[in-house]
Amino acid sequence: MAVLPRVEINLEKIRHNAKTLKQLFGRKGISITGVVKGVTADLNIAGALVEAGITSLADSKIANIEKMRKAGIKADLILLRSPGISEVEKTVRYADISMNTELDTIRALSAEAVRQQKTHKIILMVEMGDLREGILLKDAPAMIREIFTCPGIELAGIGTNFACFGGVLPTEQKMQTFSRFVQAMQELFSLKLPYVSGGNSANYNWAVKTKDAEAVNNVRLGESILLGRETSGGHIIPSLYQDAFCFVAEVIESKIKPSVPYGTIGKNAFGEQVTFIDRGNRRRTIISAGRHDVLVSGLTPVRPFHIIGSSSDHIILDTKDAVLVPGDEVRFYMNYGAMLRAMTSPYVYKTYVHGAATTEPYKQQFLLSRGTRQNRPPETEKNPAN
Ligand SMILES: *Cc1c(COP(=O)(O)O)cnc(C)c1O
Repeated sequence: MAVLPRVEINLEKIRHNAKTLKQLFGRKGISITGVVKGVTADLNIAGALVEAGITSLADSKIANIEKMRKAGIKADLILLRSPGISEVEKTVRYADISMNTELDTIRALSAEAVRQQKTHKIILMVEMGDLREGILLKDAPAMIREIFTCPGIELAGIGTNFACFGGVLPTEQKMQTFSRFVQAMQELFSLKLPYVSGGNSANYNWAVKTKDAEAVNNVRLGESILLGRETSGGHIIPSLYQDAFCFVAEVIESKIKPSVPYGTIGKNAFGEQVTFIDRGNRRRTIISAGRHDVLVSGLTPVRPFHIIGSSSDHIILDTKDAVLVPGDEVRFYMNYGAMLRAMTSPYVYKTYVHGAATTEPYKQQFLLSRGTRQNRPPETEKNPAN
């Protein structure tokens, strides 16, 4: 029996994406850290990345690092977010490296590393304008001096992040500023840093175009590996697969009904006031998945269907000329938000397929217009009738 709803994960496509990006960045002297937080560090996917030649994997949740460590994944495991003080014990136990910005946390990691008789490596995150995590450049020398006084701690890298909070892009000029800052620190402290980590999937265009990546020798890639997109403009990356993930749900009702709700209209279950265009009586198809399971606005039907709307456990479709019946499967491409929600939902089965994951050609022009992660459609599907 088919399991539904499910995500079909094509490991070969993910492997292809990872290998291709590894080569592409490799030409500029940049290694790749595979970011698996969007897929809850799924062990099959982590394994596929290692098979593709990726030697470090990163996740923002210590529970996922622990899962990969216990499974014996053969890669350096990096905690992608500053550990909480409450997570210091697990961070030293399970992560090879963690990203840090606070001296108090680094001192706590140091004490714990001494207690566990280990060396814990850190990547110091610096602020380049996006205004999420990072210390200001002017504070770096004093911070690095302090880090050197922490027993059990090794400074393995300096990193920065773009296009995550403020939408600040890794332009050539920003990247040069970062590189020159890192070079200055390397000279000042006679450092050789294995991780000069210049960003994420938003760095793709810079990496392709730049003539010299200078000090940068690493990037941390999630979305571009998993979904074949760069994230500064939301564009597809040619030669990569965008459909390694496919969402599949099952028809549970298919009936001809009016296209406008009738009765006294208040707000729906999500507090939204929805409006509809009257298209007369039309066939409405309901599938067995909803907002509990997936970010509905991040789904694109593979067939030319229209998503009319959704609630917690239902998605309502206009299937145009197609007549579907209960038990029929409906397939969707997924964006990052849809993938993340489906992969973390306990209600959605995770299945692995080999070869072609989708049966119909990929609709490139549609996906090109989906926008960046910053301006993705909101979570709610308001006014979905048009
Ligand atoms: C999530 C994350 C990444 C990966 O971002 P993508 O856009 O998926 O490549 C890289 N670095 C940090 C610090 C992150 O939190």
